[in-house]
Amino acid sequence: MGITEQDQTGVLMEALPYIQKYNGKTVVVKYGGNAMIDEELKAAVISDVVLLTLIGIRVVIVHGGGPEINDMLGRIGKESRFVNGLRYTDSETMDIVQQVLCGNVNKDLVMLINRAGGRAVGLCGVDGGLFKAEKLSDGNDYGYVGNITSVDPALVEDMLEKGYIPVVSTIAQGTDEETAYNINADIAASKLAIALKAEKLILLTDVKGLMLDPKDETTLLREVKLSEVPRLEREGVIRGGMIPKVNCCVEAMRSGVQRANIQDGRVPHSILMELLSDEGVGTMFIQKAGD
Ligand code: ADP
Ligand code: MG
Repeated sequence: MGITEQDQTGVLMEALPYIQKYNGKTVVVKYGGNAMIDEELKAAVISDVVLLTLIGIRVVIVHGGGPEINDMLGRIGKESRFVNGLRYTDSETMDIVQQVLCGNVNKDLVMLINRAGGRAVGLCGVDGGLFKAEKLSDGNDYGYVGNITSVDPALVEDMLEKGYIPVVSTIAQGTDEETAYNINADIAASKLAIALKAEKLILLTDVKGLMLDPKDETTLLREVKLSEVPRLEREGVIRGGMIPKVNCCVEAMRSGVQRANIQDGRVPHSILMELLSDEGVGTMFIQKAGD
């Protein structure tokens, strides 16, 4: 497949208004799922982040680590169950979550970004009092899963100011108990985007976006109005891991984040496509007057 010189110039010129639009703005990317396991995809995400930083976009990465946590739990013969898309976290699982997320996963990402020419700093949610939480209690028992009660983005802002790329793993310090809590990474990314007054929230996942039928990619919903979400939830379209994802996009947009997107992390450079081209990818949430 060859592209002509004219096509190439076209692509670059198409990026200009988007570079102008996002220059100096903050974009929070939630990174997780398959895009974080496959080495080639990982390299593509990392190079997107470095490129965006070099053109003056303030990128913050918030990462999950579900597969790595499952892997470690498997090694000690433990399995997780999920309640409404959230991992039930007993105290042994909480230990593993903290070790894997704040240790291996976070530092590996930092090293990769540094190697690709960016300057990354790894943080977890307890550093600088970034995330405070109490036990999530909505009638279900999730164990040590926290509900974020406050976000202090000062440390992240300082880093962005100095040109660093903050890489955040999502545990939070408990305010009700002497414990760390496990925080779903989509929710943490959304809360941080709100606190940073980010322009955009991008949630990378291992499917094309929100689909009417998760087994059929042709049923991808390219645009979802915020007001449509309760109906989609009632009808059971939004299930499992999509529940926190969709809810936190709605919350982000109702709280001042201009755009929220759920998109496919398995497609190389989908972050660049979404931010710097006319081509929209995945599911975009839209807010109409009165929504
Ligand atoms: P992540 O690591 O990205 O948070 P999750 O497993 O938590 O991944 O959430 C994504 C999963 O949500 C998909 O792999 C899919 O199985 C599930 N899902 C449930 N309902 C839908 C839907 N309507 N459209 C797409 N995916 C859905
Ligand atoms: Mg999830």
